[in-house]
Amino acid sequence: MDTENKAPESKNFIEQIIDKDLEEGRFDHVQTRFPPEPNGYLHIGHAKSILLNYGIAWEYDGKFNLRFDDTNPAKEDEEFVESIKNDVKWLGVDWEDRCFFSSDYFDQMYEAAVKLIKKGKAYVCDLSAEEIKESRGWADKPGTESPYRDRSVEENLDLFERMKNGEFADGEKVLRAKIDMSSPNMNMRDPVIYRVAHLTHHNTGDKWCIYPMYDFAHPIEDAIEGISHSICTLEFEDHRPLYDWVVNELEYDQPPRQVEFAKLYLTNVVTGKRYIKQLVEEGIVDGWDDPRLVSIAALRRRGYTPESIRMFVDLCGVSKSNSSVDYAMLEYCIREDLNLSKPRYMAVLDPVKVIIDNYPEDEEEWLDAPNNVKNEELGSRKIPFCKELYIERTDFMEDPPKKYFRLFPGNEVRLMNAYFVKCVDYKKDESGKVTEIHVTYDPETKSGSGFTGRKVKGTIHWVSAKHAVKAEARLYENLVDEEKGVLDEDGNLNLNPNSLEVLDNCYVEPALAEVKPEDKFQFMRNGFFCADMHDHTKEKPVFNRIVSLKSSFKLPKND
Ligand code: ATP
Ligand code: MG
Repeated sequence: MDTENKAPESKNFIEQIIDKDLEEGRFDHVQTRFPPEPNGYLHIGHAKSILLNYGIAWEYDGKFNLRFDDTNPAKEDEEFVESIKNDVKWLGVDWEDRCFFSSDYFDQMYEAAVKLIKKGKAYVCDLSAEEIKESRGWADKPGTESPYRDRSVEENLDLFERMKNGEFADGEKVLRAKIDMSSPNMNMRDPVIYRVAHLTHHNTGDKWCIYPMYDFAHPIEDAIEGISHSICTLEFEDHRPLYDWVVNELEYDQPPRQVEFAKLYLTNVVTGKRYIKQLVEEGIVDGWDDPRLVSIAALRRRGYTPESIRMFVDLCGVSKSNSSVDYAMLEYCIREDLNLSKPRYMAVLDPVKVIIDNYPEDEEEWLDAPNNVKNEELGSRKIPFCKELYIERTDFMEDPPKKYFRLFPGNEVRLMNAYFVKCVDYKKDESGKVTEIHVTYDPETKSGSGFTGRKVKGTIHWVSAKHAVKAEARLYENLVDEEKGVLDEDGNLNLNPNSLEVLDNCYVEPALAEVKPEDKFQFMRNGFFCADMHDHTKEKPVFNRIVSLKSSFKLPKND
């Protein structure tokens, strides 16, 4: 392991802890895990946790485990297990043969509880949930000890076994750790570690009617798997003394260490699993992978790449204090990834017809167009040109303001990769809507011909009406009304009614009928788009806008 060549400043606080642990011999290896609860799809925050854990394992030549936290039998769902595996893989993370379920360890957890009882460190308590809560006291007021606290080891062993055997109803008895009812840390006031719950578990069926609590189960799972650093988010900081208590009392070799970091929050974006679930269940979005969401499945469908998400997570860094990141940074990352690597096509999203009066009726030309002017390696393609074209409605104005350099009566513009055209006339319908624009072209000005006779200020994109393929484009805005923020006073989401705009009368270059679902490219002047993974077909192309081309976003300075 060569960690010496790295300057310590370049390491984050977690790496510094690991370096120290390795140096001091607390661990002889590094192993991390990602422990999702299979009760929803993963989101961008989870991506941060996954990439952080995996990155650390990779950096220290260690191992990374995927572990489904299915200790709560009431909530799990097979659909979520599959989606989580898919998303983790898609991010480029490999758990090799180490995909585990917490429920795989129920036997060991039971044994661990018995061990604590034998050590006089756990007892069966008959108080109700309500009574336990009341007797816990407050932060500044010590709790009161349970009248069952001093049961003998024999009695506790007997009662715990009978809990396991189903002799008691839900809530009738619990097993509690015997720690300290006056600890300043509420989590240490004899926490419940096992409860009776007559529930069928998706993995263990009806084998168990007692289930371990998270704070007891998690450190045991970590220890069994040989996890060295159990990386979790800040809300568990107060639970760390209990984590340490469990692994120490159970006398594991190399007891795992819990390390907390701050959750990733995106400003004005719905990230919590609970809220995403609500949007899905209420039908406000079209499923867990609706491209407006920031679940990993949704980001993928929208057109984000694993590379862009990795870059984003890297830019965010790891920290000990909660903060919120601008969504524009995520957009910056996908632009960076796609800008040079993907071809640029012409697509007209809101078309109006252009007729070239002096272009021969039946003629057609196939013009050369570079696939990406900034990256010659992507080669070139031929695009058809003929007498009738479509351009964007916004690229023509009857009566333009100053500094409008696109098409208007009497003005000449360049048609990208083609000719100069000059507007000579236009027609409108009864409602005043422009229905066709007449232009003349100058054959001398053909793109690539070296013409230098005169210049024009505007360049617009177009497609050949005869050859273009009709398509649908889906444009997105934030689901949240940014003026109002994510939640209102009553905790309801402030939704933006315009978060989805469907344009179903677009025309695109014929080359775009050949792309596959999930292919990504730039539509010149309109943004980066992705062929929809579910709905795109050759017959009816559907493109999601990933992100527009421009932004005022600037990378935060690192100084
Ligand atoms: P949510 O807060 O969205 O409901 P969760 O924490 O309940 O998510 P889990 O499945 O329990 O979801 O989380 C799995 C792991 O992902 C945990 O280690 C958790 O700390 C981490 N995690 C969850 N949300 C974030 C986030 N926003 N940023 C970083 N890590 C996160
Ligand atoms: Mg959770």
